[in-house]
Formats: sequence, structure tokens, C-alpha cells
Amino acid sequence: MKIAVLSGKGGTGKTLVSVNMAAAARKAVYIDCDVEEPNGHLFFKPTKFEGEDIAIKIPFVNPALCTGCRKCVDFCKFSALAYIGKKLIIFDEVCHSCGGCVLLCPEKALSEKDKKIGEIRKGISENVTVISGFLNPGEASGIPIIKKELSSVAEGEGLTLIDCPPGSACIAMESIRDADYCILVAEPTLFGVHNLGMVYELVNLFHKPHGVVLNKCLEGENPSEQFCIEHHINILGKIPFDHEIGTLNSNALILVREKEKYREIFFPLLLKAVEEVAREKAFNS
Ligand code: SF4
Ligand code: SF4
Repeated sequence: MKIAVLSGKGGTGKTLVSVNMAAAARKAVYIDCDVEEPNGHLFFKPTKFEGEDIAIKIPFVNPALCTGCRKCVDFCKFSALAYIGKKLIIFDEVCHSCGGCVLLCPEKALSEKDKKIGEIRKGISENVTVISGFLNPGEASGIPIIKKELSSVAEGEGLTLIDCPPGSACIAMESIRDADYCILVAEPTLFGVHNLGMVYELVNLFHKPHGVVLNKCLEGENPSEQFCIEHHINILGKIPFDHEIGTLNSNALILVREKEKYREIFFPLLLKAVEEVAREKAFNS
């Protein structure tokens, strides 16, 4: 069972929710797909957190075969190629590894080579298997790393919590692609509603069953809660605005491993999400 946790922007609390739900489970896999700024491992502090390089294919040119026809330059939609001063220049940083230019070159002047763009690391933290992806600074896309992370979990592994990248761009899409259920984390502000609206559109686009966790809740009006009521979105639970949560979280401590009262918040959230998945499966069978 794969549960993706996402939000319209960083700092909303998706790592707080995914880390604590994974830690509250009897056994779980936690995958940090926020590959541009992964931080889940800072909470879990996994042992034997070992790495595997992730590489993509990028083109390189044999100048002796290149006639300067520029067909590859015209073809590349990412402007990763330029022909200047009788020389083909390849901008590795913006190449998206589509391989099209290599196939297209009439002179067979282009070939492919490996380029490391980051790594994934895997380790154990008590009841949780932790998998984190790290994209090197300046790289065009973290999607190859996210694909590798998600495919490294065997079918039937049990509960998997996916900590998605913030926003609704292609890396967030890739992270929820195989999820059975999505949890949207929202703040109780007008900005919070705006960001919730973005990820709400995304999960609807992918026809993913979903529910909302309202974070940093105070007494009084909550525009994100109002949004959920108006759009008939299931509210899985609320996390209070709490000075102690802020302190523990900023010190990279896992709330449910620190105090029982936090397990009483996150374990019911987990149960509700699992029940929702079971209900969806029964409905669709
Ligand atoms: S398509 Fe081939 S021959 Fe033409 S400019 Fe590109 S590399 Fe050179
Ligand atoms: S592999 Fe694709 S993205 Fe990269 S340079 Fe060639 S055409 Fe452009």
C-alpha cells in the first residue's frame, strides 16, 4: 500500500506528516522523493545509510563525423545543443536525456555516455526502512532518481509513505503516479488554501483518492477547512499549532518517538488513510 503525502509548497508539514506516520506504523517504508532538498533522513538518522549512484545518458559528439548540418540543434526542444564556430556544443545541464538527437543524426556523429546526476541511499531506522534521493545541484530533472527510489520497493513490501516534492510540477506527478492514496497537507491561511487548490487539482487530474490533513491549526476560522467542506474533501485529521511540535521538529526529532501524546495524533491519521485505501479497493473491486 502506497500513500503519498504532498503539499502545494515547502514548509507546510508534509515531511512532518509522512515521517511521523511511518514511525507510528508497526513497520513501514519511508521514501523521500523531495530530491532537491531531502531532509527526512535527518529525522530518522538511519544506520548503514548507503548510496547508489544514479546516472542518465547524455550525448557526446565525434567532431570528425559531424558535418554541421544542425539537424540535432533544430530538433532539441530543450536548447541543449548549439553549433557555434564550426563546433557542436552540448549543454549537459539542460539535456533531458531523450536520446532523440543521437537517433536523428544522419552522420552517426552522436553517441551516449553516462552522467551522474545524484544518488539514492537506503538505511534502517527502528521500524522504518528509509530511502532518500539526492539530486546534484544544477541538474535539470530529479525524475530518474524518483523512478529509481519508487522501483526499489518490492511489491508486497507493506505500507509505504512517499514524501513528495512540494508543488504540482512533473516531479510531484511522478511521485504520486503509483500511489494508492494521497494525503494533502494544508495550512490554515489564504496562502494555504491557494497551495491546497494546486495539489487538489493534481490529484484530481490523476484520479487519485485523497484526504486532507490540516496542519498548524489554531482556534477560529480555517480557510483550508472551509475549502475542504465546500469541495466535499475528507478531512483525515488536524494537527494543532503547538510550540513543542515546532521545537521538536526543528531539532529533527520524530514526535511519535518522543511522546505518546503525538502517537495519539499520528496513529489515528495512519489508520484513517489505511481504511480509506481499503474502502477504495473494495469499491473498485
Ligand atoms: S545532426 Fe549530427 S552531423 Fe548534424 S550537426 Fe548534429 S551532430 Fe553534427
Ligand atoms: S538527448 Fe534530447 S534533450 Fe539531450 S541534447 Fe539530445 S535532443 Fe536535446
